[in-house]
Amino acid sequence: MSPPDDPFDLTDAPSPPAPARAVASLAHLEGLNPEQRAAAIHDAGPLLVLAGAGTGKTRVLTTRIAHLLISGRARASQILAVTFTNKAAREMMDRVSGLIGGAAEGMWLGTFHAIGVRILRRHAELVGLKSGFTILDTDDQTRLIKQLLEAEGIDDKKWPPRVLSGIIQRWKDRALTPDKVGGEDASEFADGRAADIYRQYQERLLAVNAADFGDLVMHCVTLWQKHPDVLAQYHRRLRHLLVDEYQDTNVAQYLWLRLLAQGTRDVCCVGDDDQSIYGWRGAEVGNILRFEKDFPGASIVRLERNYRSTPHILSAASHLIAHNAGRLGKTLWTAVKDGEKVRLRGVWDGDEEARGIGEEIEALQRDRHPLGQIAILVRAGLQTREFEERFIKLGLPYRVIGGPRFYERQEIRDALAYFRVIVQPADDLAFERIYNTPRRGLGEQALRTLRSIQRSGRVPLVEAARLALETDELKSRPRKSLSDLIAGFDRWRTMLEGMSHVEVAETVLDESGYTDMLRADRSVEAQGRLENLKELIAALREFDTLPAFMEHVALLTDNAANADGDAVSLMTLHAAKGLEFDTVFLPGWEEGLFPNQRAMDDKGQAGLEEERRLAYVGLTRARKRAYVSFAANRRIFNQWQAATPSRFLRELPGDSMDESSDAGLYATYSAGHQRGLREAVDGFEYESLGTARTRRQRRDETVDDRRADSGDRLDLAVGQRVFHQKFGYGQVVAIDGNKLDIAFDKAGAKKVLDSFVEPA
Ligand code: ATP
Ligand code: MG
Repeated sequence: MSPPDDPFDLTDAPSPPAPARAVASLAHLEGLNPEQRAAAIHDAGPLLVLAGAGTGKTRVLTTRIAHLLISGRARASQILAVTFTNKAAREMMDRVSGLIGGAAEGMWLGTFHAIGVRILRRHAELVGLKSGFTILDTDDQTRLIKQLLEAEGIDDKKWPPRVLSGIIQRWKDRALTPDKVGGEDASEFADGRAADIYRQYQERLLAVNAADFGDLVMHCVTLWQKHPDVLAQYHRRLRHLLVDEYQDTNVAQYLWLRLLAQGTRDVCCVGDDDQSIYGWRGAEVGNILRFEKDFPGASIVRLERNYRSTPHILSAASHLIAHNAGRLGKTLWTAVKDGEKVRLRGVWDGDEEARGIGEEIEALQRDRHPLGQIAILVRAGLQTREFEERFIKLGLPYRVIGGPRFYERQEIRDALAYFRVIVQPADDLAFERIYNTPRRGLGEQALRTLRSIQRSGRVPLVEAARLALETDELKSRPRKSLSDLIAGFDRWRTMLEGMSHVEVAETVLDESGYTDMLRADRSVEAQGRLENLKELIAALREFDTLPAFMEHVALLTDNAANADGDAVSLMTLHAAKGLEFDTVFLPGWEEGLFPNQRAMDDKGQAGLEEERRLAYVGLTRARKRAYVSFAANRRIFNQWQAATPSRFLRELPGDSMDESSDAGLYATYSAGHQRGLREAVDGFEYESLGTARTRRQRRDETVDDRRADSGDRLDLAVGQRVFHQKFGYGQVVAIDGNKLDIAFDKAGAKKVLDSFVEPA
């Protein structure tokens, strides 16, 4: 193979593509079906492969690249392939290398962002940057916006910088530069001044020679629009464009691609409208639906044969997604004849769900199934905790994909650092971590002062802080903040003597300003962080004291098996896009959790449909086995809640579901099965409540002993605090035989049967 071209050398007109030589071998096309093959070798203009999950879209893309190279139609440096994640880019590179028998060096392969940076570095001056520009993360971005708001005298309590940061990101997703924002795009933020701050923000970024993530794509669009000569260079260079997961491109990415595709018009996009799951980040499923209009004369290839999953899995996924109104609609079939049904299980609570799945995985492991072929896909990041704890207990190696393990997450470490200082005031590392988080004006200078006192007095930092407060070494603002913080720690420590550690922990997070900091931050990440903190509080309840919990966590992080080798994958449904596993567990299919309440509140029907597409993505990741589960009770936001089975369960076809209780793990649900799925799900609440007591007695490790009841008869008294599966906590107001009048904290006054409540 010829030596790789210098991909940055754009000034040379590239040598014309080599004339197609007689292809030495067509081995790389072997096994493709006729439609796949047509797409892989297609050479006349724009091409869209629009097809359902597992039909080989990514395989077509990879083979197409290999074919371009092997047939001599293109050199590696003339190919641009866009993937959704860096991980997908690596996998694609490996696959191509496998097919061509060597590395495809010089190929432009990566995410829109990665490729955007590469282009911008080369032409930075043309958009007002210098080549060594820095890329800002969201924290830097928000800090900059905060400064601008301050300078404008805009109250950042009323108009939080994070919110504006989000608004600006959405504008950038649509390639709206400040001069284009206006009319219905304008925001109400700060009484209509958002666009002006946006303009200032862009100016500041240029002044400090920095770009944020959105700029990486948007600047390219501007660059090419304003400098046709530069665009022409890329047209000469990048002659073959390929995009995977096209349904999740946003407007800016779409414009980027369209400009580039004006060159040779050899653009091949593959995607599935049913898998568009990033609408909340600005993705426009419309891009894929409009392809023919945007690229006149485009060929459309549809693939219908699914090579990934067994018939039952496919049927479950197809039935589910058929409930979405806004879709093109496709049929999928598989030549695979048999296979297991999708297993549907109802369990008592999240703990039992994690235990059941753990046992199931151990059984698979005994049957020599590689752990790397097993994935647990959750809707919300907070759901990983119970599985992580379970796996550590079982010694099952696991890996959290696309995010850190639960106890290693930033907000969890911050919260733990607060707790550590309370339990162990000499813990300098913990103190340093949070002494200015949330920001309270304690910068490097204050820290230097404390450190010097610490050194001379040989005392812990907290003590050094106390000493510093007795001197005049600190300026008044840091002094006040530090004094408040130290007083806070003293107060929280005292509280531990008289209050439950759970309440103290909640108080700490509130009074320290930590939760407020996240609440002010309206980004999706911040929501996830708040949820993780609530999950942390839930975990705390399982221990009697704060130190006991801290010890547990220390051991957990220590024992966490280093999962370099074969390991179970834990990730969110969003992170699972494009991947496949022999066995997939889909826990937590309950209303509110999945479909996610916030998505529905924010976007209504469209939000629900995006949730359903996520469910479709989840099911279609499975090759051989899919397990869907739901719990009758979830501890969410530190409260037990009676969960309602997800509406998606009713949309699954009874014929493809295995609802038996063979494993003995999921007996709760079994009584309803004879009546058929739909009815069973409707009747689930009743069934689960009816069997609740026996389940509870059978449980060996109860997560909440305080609530465990003592037997069949409850000795309830007026005034007593009780817990009800559906209505939550309340107080008994009157008793009439087995009927109770209860004033519930949340649900108000209700009459209920005593068998449905437990002492709180
Ligand atoms: P998704 O929509 O989930 O991204 P996809 O359409 O990109 O799926 P691929 O990942 O390319 O599908 O393929 C799914 C599985 O089917 C892969 O394991 C792939 O190797 C296999 N496959 C695809 N085409 C064929 C074929 N013609 N013969 C055998 N296996 C195939
Ligand atoms: Mg794919």
